[in-house]
Amino acid sequence: MQIAIDGPAGSGKSTIAKLVASKLGFIYCDTGAMYRTATVMATRLGLDYGDEAAIMAHLKDLTITFKPTPDGQLVFMDGEDVTLAIREPITTNNVSQVSALPQVRTEMVARQRAIAESEDIVMDGRDIGTTVLPHAELKIFMVASVAERAKRRHKENVEKGIDTPLDVLEREIQERDRKDSTRAISPLREAADAVRIDSSAMTIDEEVAEILKLAAEKRREQRK
Ligand code: C5P
Repeated sequence: MQIAIDGPAGSGKSTIAKLVASKLGFIYCDTGAMYRTATVMATRLGLDYGDEAAIMAHLKDLTITFKPTPDGQLVFMDGEDVTLAIREPITTNNVSQVSALPQVRTEMVARQRAIAESEDIVMDGRDIGTTVLPHAELKIFMVASVAERAKRRHKENVEKGIDTPLDVLEREIQERDRKDSTRAISPLREAADAVRIDSSAMTIDEEVAEILKLAAEKRREQRK
């Protein structure tokens, strides 16, 4: 079974996707972390974030792997733990430029499909239901107000020792939404057959329960 969870920055996708995957015993793939890792690579090498040829020359051979741990999922770039680096502001503020590069998307989509090929999976991102896994049995599109999303990001950041003012986070989120929704190739868009969940006024437990209920319904339909 494939469950696709898409939505804008800070909509709570990854928290929910991780919990749903663990409840169902499915693997979890955070596609945003893959674009973020490509961005860290570009920063480290001093590449221009819009230089598709240079980024592709290095990305082709770059390995990106995940390792689940009780404290969350770790992300590795060529074996180096980049879990923290991918969340730094320099990465967050430049990832939309890297992820808009057509060849970067082609490469990442191929890797994501390969990951999803052989196991039950929950995958979160922007284009999973529309492009990466168009035949996913369950597609969720998560939304939440900008204010709520900035508040959540702020809390997450403070826990990691990053203290960016709320109004700056709101502006960054709006800007990232704009870039992710207006790019030419597979922009952030709700799939026609997605179920929309507005998480602004829901608790994490309520959201997870809702998705598990929808997944159980899909499974029953499949068995019929
Ligand atoms: O989900 P997260 O906020 O970590 O994603 C970081 C960035 O990666 C997004 O702002 C977007 O530019 C890009 N992304 C994407 N397609 C995906 C997942 C993420 O373009 N499937």
